[in-house]
Amino acid sequence: MIIGAGVAGLSAAWRLERAGFRDYVLLEMETLAGGTSRSGQRGEFNYPWGAHYVPVPMRHNAPLIQLLSEIGLVEGISDEGEPIIAEQFLCRDPSERLFYDGRWLEGMYPFEGASQEERRQLAEFRDEIDRWVAARDHRGRRMFAVPMAVGSDDSVVRQLDRLSMSQWMDEHGWDSPRLRWAVDYGCRDDYGLSIERVSAWAGLFYFASRVSKPGQESQSVMTWPEGNGRVVEHFVNAVGDHLRCGVAVAEVRPGSSGDGSFDGPIRVTGVEMGSFEPIGWNADEVIFAAPQFLARHLIRNSDRELVRDGKEFQYGSWLVANVHLRDRPATRGFPMCWDNVIHDSRSLGYVTATHQMGIDHGPTVLTWYHPFADVDASETRRSMLRLEWSDWAELVMGDLIKAHPDLPSLVTRLDVMLWGHAMVSPRVGFVWSPARINASKPLGSIHFAGTDLSGIALFEEAFYHGIRAAEEVLSRIGYDHQPMLPLRADSTS
Ligand SMILES: Cc1cc2nc3c(=O)[nH]c(=O)nc-3n(C[C@H](O)[C@H](O)[C@H](O)COP(=O)(O)OP(=O)(O)OC[C@H]3O[C@@H](n4cnc5c(N)ncnc54)[C@H](O)[C@@H]3O)c2cc1C
Repeated sequence: MIIGAGVAGLSAAWRLERAGFRDYVLLEMETLAGGTSRSGQRGEFNYPWGAHYVPVPMRHNAPLIQLLSEIGLVEGISDEGEPIIAEQFLCRDPSERLFYDGRWLEGMYPFEGASQEERRQLAEFRDEIDRWVAARDHRGRRMFAVPMAVGSDDSVVRQLDRLSMSQWMDEHGWDSPRLRWAVDYGCRDDYGLSIERVSAWAGLFYFASRVSKPGQESQSVMTWPEGNGRVVEHFVNAVGDHLRCGVAVAEVRPGSSGDGSFDGPIRVTGVEMGSFEPIGWNADEVIFAAPQFLARHLIRNSDRELVRDGKEFQYGSWLVANVHLRDRPATRGFPMCWDNVIHDSRSLGYVTATHQMGIDHGPTVLTWYHPFADVDASETRRSMLRLEWSDWAELVMGDLIKAHPDLPSLVTRLDVMLWGHAMVSPRVGFVWSPARINASKPLGSIHFAGTDLSGIALFEEAFYHGIRAAEEVLSRIGYDHQPMLPLRADSTS
């Protein structure tokens, strides 16, 4: 039994399928699979509701390269062993622009008007990132690698988790507002946290883990009009009728072996979301691929005592809006890109759903992202329960109008998605805490998957944990399979 059909649960099911093991059920509470990688479709447009890109994996991530090959994205392998992705799936140029000082500029850093000192600090920051990219620990591992399980757990990197990204920048004397804005933007974008709250480990992971060699750019990104919904669709097809949507699991009750440890059949009780009828299963093994904060509500032993707390796992909230337009807004400066960021805003701006289709004129959908990066998440969740569509629509339009005054006359529809527990927060001290490190360990026949087990929310981490949990199950039941894990990265990759 796999609980939760986000990327982690789907990856676990995909792994079982590829091993030829088909005696399983995948349960999903929502009417559609995908979790935070879900997408939407209306008329001729597909668009994301959450995750919208995956960076090209480095050669050590063989299972992910296998998945991408299945989807038809990989054209070949380079002489250096790196996957070559077909051009139409790489983010098309121009990829990003920034609304700064009343007009759009190409790229994410406003070079225009930057002082010598600001440029010096940017160069110094880049050199420092290159130093981390080049460094290897005593076991020859990269300091930061994707998935994080392949990277170093040396004290040199772990101690970065004890301070915030902002403190780490202070230590280097980097006070340039442009640099601090760019770093803060990156952290809000990937983690939904400002540099004051995110751990320096996570901040450095963002900048260093996707650069293959010093001096190079980050890995190119793969994207689709519907974002990572494209990968979800592949998984859903692979899993077939093992997937059952519209069933919320309400209780997971492990059997007891009598000596206090959990073993034997697990009673899983769910609720059919349409009829609210209860429904139950007995499972030999369970993969819990729902977020960790739910474990304390769902997993109870036979005396109905709490089995896992999970309180250390904290989650930020996000608002995502899909804004449908009859035509493009007027632009001052650089033309519309895939990623369009407004400098004087706490939103992340928007991605354009038609960009990857090569359609640069006429109707489109803008997917606008806003992490509540500076406020207490439980406060935001309470507002989410209280406020109405019109309140959120006002927030969305109030932000977009700064860069596009003519937008109101072009909007035909505006939908919002409130993600209460959108993604795990890699706040100071969490990623290398015992609570996070130990959470991946199984409790008898209950195994855990989910990106939150890495302390950061990324497609590759969810995929990794799904595969790991599925292989744990296959090994436990003695099912013959060729392991995909552990991943082996040589010291040059
Ligand atoms: C707005 C947003 C943008 C993002 N953008 C990106 C991006 O561009 N690139 C990237 O790599 N990552 C991005 N992410 C991170 C994204 O979370 C991960 O890539 C990945 O999708 C996480 O998958 P998961 O399976 O670990 O968790 P989830 O997506 O949370 O999946 C958990 C699943 O469990 C289900 N579930 C929960 N409770 C129950 C229950 N009781 N019974 C049954 N089912 C249950 C949920 O409905 C859900 O489908 C983004 C996240 C958000 C919120």
